[in-house]
Amino acid sequence: MNADTPIKVTVWNEYTDEQKKGAPAQIYPEGLHKTIADFLNKDKEISAGVSIITDPEQGLSEDILNNTDVLIWWGHIYHHLISDQAVKRVADRVQMGMGCIFLHSAHQSKPFMALTGTSGRLSWREAEERCRVWTANPAHPIAAGIPETFLLDQEEMYSEPFGIPEPQSTVFISWFQGGNVFRSGVTFLREYGRIFYFQPGHESYPTYHNENVQRVITNAVKWARPLARVTNRNCPRVDEPLERLG
Ligand code: ZN
Repeated sequence: MNADTPIKVTVWNEYTDEQKKGAPAQIYPEGLHKTIADFLNKDKEISAGVSIITDPEQGLSEDILNNTDVLIWWGHIYHHLISDQAVKRVADRVQMGMGCIFLHSAHQSKPFMALTGTSGRLSWREAEERCRVWTANPAHPIAAGIPETFLLDQEEMYSEPFGIPEPQSTVFISWFQGGNVFRSGVTFLREYGRIFYFQPGHESYPTYHNENVQRVITNAVKWARPLARVTNRNCPRVDEPLERLG
């Protein structure tokens, strides 16, 4: 992987009718996937494109995934529509080295559950409450330049217990006005692929315009960039030993 070539990012969003009217459309006129791609493209190390569920092959074709170093996933109410073939393509690519960032309600997307092997279960409340994000691991590259704590005026509340495997690193923890807490930024490694889950980003709040949130996602893209990608998943038979046997 050449460090001089831009990191190719695909921001995938279901982007169905619910996001094209009301508050989501006012806050993200072209869709939150476009807002995310736009701020990522301000970084010269990144080249970000978008795809949505209504694109051919649900925006998750072999071509798209083969040209993606880091996939960003935002889905909410149409998880069940994602085809098993698309889920397998995404999970296989991650295991072969592609980075993947799951945002907000992607905690119960099929690829997240396939890759973590868990339910992604949590409890939630939509009450426009304040959310305070705490940097739990300031030494992690995803936390670079992020203050010890920052405030989001409105977020959907997500609460522990969170149905995930023990993370490789818990980078952020969030506190909500109603008293709940949540492991809001966690990393996993699956074979060669790096995975980051990040909770902020309810579609009717301006979360993706927040500069700390933008920095976290930008940092996460750079952290999740593939260090190696494998192309062959077979288990080769090796009859010839390297050293003399016996
Ligand atoms: Zn939400």
